[in-house]
Amino acid sequence: MTEELFATDAYVRSCEATVREAGDEGVVLDRTVFYARSGGQPGDTGVLRWDGGELRVLDTVKRGGRLVHEVDGEPPDEGTAVTAEIDWDRRHTLMRTHTALHALSAIVFRDYDVKVTGGNMEPGVARMDFELESIDAEFGREVEEKLNAELAADRPVRVSFLPRAEALADPDLIRTKVNLIPELVDPIRVIEIEGLDKQADGGTHVRSTAEVGHVRVAKTENKGKAFKRMRIELA
Ligand SMILES: [Zn+2]
Repeated sequence: MTEELFATDAYVRSCEATVREAGDEGVVLDRTVFYARSGGQPGDTGVLRWDGGELRVLDTVKRGGRLVHEVDGEPPDEGTAVTAEIDWDRRHTLMRTHTALHALSAIVFRDYDVKVTGGNMEPGVARMDFELESIDAEFGREVEEKLNAELAADRPVRVSFLPRAEALADPDLIRTKVNLIPELVDPIRVIEIEGLDKQADGGTHVRSTAEVGHVRVAKTENKGKAFKRMRIELA
């Protein structure tokens, strides 16, 4: 098991670590700051450095329960001490993007009673799908205005770990289908945007909504019955 430093502090950019496994698949470390692709958030990229070598990390993924750094060359031997450093600008943009998506989903649920059915993000751009009967540019503008008002309110964003039983009893978390998380997961990691949103989530987020900056609703799309899409872009 790799200690996942990003789970408690998304702002750690680098760490010292030891290679536990190295092979064709990539490198597994005893601890890391690299977020592994999941929940719509891409895996981190960056660099591993050690005495006499350096490798780019092209992607980070979970494979068979292991957190794998995919590298573009011959990995260092097992037992090597390395410095693991993420591409911070890219990651920070992903943190802003991820927090923007949580705020967006909360607003659409709160003001229109509409549920999110999917979402995905790249640094600075994202899409979110809603169980909506209709969508148009006017709706997009209205949501954009609400979203920017909530972000500008500088709401704190907090990470916590709730005992599973407590999480299953929380009405806000029930809404976001916390019951679908595998039973072995306990405690459950929760991301709360104070006064706006609370959901079980493994991703990395900024400390405050003001750090997201301005967000534009770039496009609204009709993908089918009760399947409408909104694309957002960060300034
Ligand atoms: Zn999320």
